[in-house]
Amino acid sequence: MNRRRGVPVEPLQCGTCGANDVIQIELTLPDGTEVNFCSCHQCEARWWDRDGEPLELDVVLELARNTSA
Ligand SMILES: [Zn+2]
Repeated sequence: MNRRRGVPVEPLQCGTCGANDVIQIELTLPDGTEVNFCSCHQCEARWWDRDGEPLELDVVLELARNTSA
């Protein structure tokens, strides 16, 4: 897989309102999983993303909970 780090190249588009006014924050969960937290300034929609795939909040919370397996 070709994984890019650092500066996002393409502007993200909000899936809810279609605006390009989306911020993306890279986070590393306690188990080492890298995820992106995305937030739309227009409609305040928020979602999670891992390797370009949307993540359910439940999954993120589950990953965050598995600190010491
Ligand atoms: Zn939006």
